[in-house]
Amino acid sequence: MAARHDLVEDAEVRAGLLTARRGTAFFARKHSELASSDLDAPSLLPGWSRRHVIAHVGYNARAVARLVEWASTGVETPMYSSPEARNREIEFGATLPPVALQNLFDHSAIHLSVEWRDLPADRWDFEVRTAQGRLVPVSETVWMRTREVWVHATDLDNGARFADVPAEVLRRLLADVWGAWEKRGDTEGLALRVSGGADGGLMLGDPGTKATVIEGSLPAVVRWALGRGEEPNALLAATHDGGPLAEIPNVCRWI
Ligand code: ZN
Repeated sequence: MAARHDLVEDAEVRAGLLTARRGTAFFARKHSELASSDLDAPSLLPGWSRRHVIAHVGYNARAVARLVEWASTGVETPMYSSPEARNREIEFGATLPPVALQNLFDHSAIHLSVEWRDLPADRWDFEVRTAQGRLVPVSETVWMRTREVWVHATDLDNGARFADVPAEVLRRLLADVWGAWEKRGDTEGLALRVSGGADGGLMLGDPGTKATVIEGSLPAVVRWALGRGEEPNALLAATHDGGPLAEIPNVCRWI
């Protein structure tokens, strides 16, 4: 018989599941505030309408659920058969009638939630492969989904802001992006400083004499770092010699 509550016992995973489900509810609320006629408008992601974002978030839940099923059964089921298949699926999903798009989002979210709920406590360390080819414990799927729902809610461009995203999600997003930049060697001469709020003083990189320092509130810095642009007057950027800003590294427009 199916469980009626999460079987996982790890407190951190349980807390993560709560944040992921809250993010799904947040995305669902922003989605529900859009009229059918609003869906064709562009999202904040280049080349994607709101329909693309909604379809992507729905198919992402299915793909993440495949990883949880993999951990449950031991039978390998990849997120996507190929990057091209993933993109084709999104293009197709974007053409669905509004009701079908809504169903895709709702059903895929419920399905994923149930897969997580019913995964036995001793299976959460099982290793699965992400779409990027990384081997991770299946517990990582909780974070993979969390960042999708919270960030893409802002991409719908109908009022969700980075300030609406929980601080613990913003902190982890920033660490992820910074880590990706470091791996590519893009953090040379760059530092990020968070000012104000509970996270004031958080610093990434070395604000040494040759550094460009980007400073702002945690939501403003994360928004910029994710390639979603700047809220007007929300960021300070400075070089120590007062010269023009050095080239900012490729922002991580991760989708
Ligand atoms: Zn995405």
